[in-house]
Amino acid sequence: MPKEDKPHAALLASPGMGHLIPIMELGKRMVTHHDFHVTIFFIASDHASATSLLKSSTLENLDIIALPSVDISGLVDPDAQLVAKLFVIMRESLPSLRSSIGAMKFRPSALIVDLFGSDAFEVAEEFGMLKYVFNTSNAWCLAVMFHSARIDDKFILEDHVKGQNSLEIPGCKSLSFRDTLESLRNIDRIDRPEFRGDKMTNSHGILINTWEDLESSTIEALRDNNLLGTILKVPIYPIGPLVRQDGNQVLDRQVKLWLDKQPIESVVYVSFGSGGTLSAKQMIELAWGLEQSQQKFVWVVRPPSNNALGTYFTISEDNVDGTPDYLPHGFFTRTKDIGLVIPTWVPQEQILSHPSVGGFLSHCGWNSTLESIMNGVPLIAWPLYAEQKMNAAMLTEDFEIAVRPTVSKTEEIVGRDEIEKMVRTIMVDKEGQAIKIRVKELKNSAEKALNKGGSSFNSLSQLARDCMFHL
Ligand code: UDP
Ligand code: UDP
Repeated sequence: MPKEDKPHAALLASPGMGHLIPIMELGKRMVTHHDFHVTIFFIASDHASATSLLKSSTLENLDIIALPSVDISGLVDPDAQLVAKLFVIMRESLPSLRSSIGAMKFRPSALIVDLFGSDAFEVAEEFGMLKYVFNTSNAWCLAVMFHSARIDDKFILEDHVKGQNSLEIPGCKSLSFRDTLESLRNIDRIDRPEFRGDKMTNSHGILINTWEDLESSTIEALRDNNLLGTILKVPIYPIGPLVRQDGNQVLDRQVKLWLDKQPIESVVYVSFGSGGTLSAKQMIELAWGLEQSQQKFVWVVRPPSNNALGTYFTISEDNVDGTPDYLPHGFFTRTKDIGLVIPTWVPQEQILSHPSVGGFLSHCGWNSTLESIMNGVPLIAWPLYAEQKMNAAMLTEDFEIAVRPTVSKTEEIVGRDEIEKMVRTIMVDKEGQAIKIRVKELKNSAEKALNKGGSSFNSLSQLARDCMFHL
């Protein structure tokens, strides 16, 4: 039951584990470190796992409310981009959010939404609440979104055609065209989802899952009235890195036993996030690359993107060792002493924190990236979609905690030899040792920001004060 002596904030998560997880972590941190009462709203889904993740968090002063799922089939083109669909789902959920908040005896004084939930600010306004956006990605991504929304696509395209290689972002790292956000890269597409920048600039502030020391110049540019501050005009709160660390999901016993048996930092963990898949051809190359590297691996496999899900467990008749037919023939037999292939969701934070894990081949989703840093694990950056290519660029060029394939076009396949080389670079080569030292430095810097008196801690304290004032 919320009480009147502490700030009460409502957090609204859009669908997808990549959004729900950081919103949950924000809620938990607000409750445990900043004396908030928090109510988390999420859109009920059929995914039992999302519900179980939420149920597993039983904290005093943290309420979790499922808003009924919505049917958007008649409202949006089935081929529309995911982002466009997310906005529609969130919009359609407003009536239930409104009635849920309206029915509360002690109403929240603030509403915090992720990038897709800003339409809900109209509900916040009706109830006189403060409005905040939580950007679950990093500050540079936010800077790119705001800057690029202001310039005409035609100019970007002209620059590109004129042979420019990158887009200049005031006060920030420039953005190579090969790394642009998906919507920007498809410059000639007319169905670019609308960017809700105006909603964000009419908020009371933007929270970012980053920390001051990690992205100091970008954060400064977002605040500087001569740079991006002229567009944003609202306070910036770097409050991260917020990642799952409490390990309330159980690691499969077999996987744990296998990891326990491996030497320290000898295993490379391979995963492309909650939704990433590779093409059939790329899967084969990755399998060969891992095998050739002769390094230990745990690979969370999803069937290739051009395979129907139903074929997942199909095993060719001659594949007697159980290797699914989208992996090289006999792969399970040849790698039985070095690898573990897992065809289901795994509690990633528990794998990354296991002492035997020493590398992460990742799609560079921002949550995965932060989890890797918080566990001091070097990365192989293998971005797929959304802002992942930008994340990969930061990891390799700025933080120098990852290696990245040299191919420049997304359509190209990364070959087995290159995969083998990258795995060996981070796991055995000298360069890998240097990367390991740097990622551990970043981990220390992150912990400093989160500790009492650190920059991220102070940012959330400021937010708590703002909300108290508004009671
Ligand atoms: N999942 C899980 N445990 C979790 C979170 C997700 O087993 O803590 C599974 C879930 O059952 C689903 C997949 O991971 O098969 C992706 O989950 P999500 O809710 O993100 O679904 P999607 O993005 O595919 O709609
Ligand atoms: N995750 C997990 N098990 C899996 C796949 C993903 O626990 O098998 C978690 C991962 O730890 C991270 C989140 O799901 O917290 C994925 O978020 P991220 O931003 O990395 O990528 P997205 O899935 O949104 O592309």
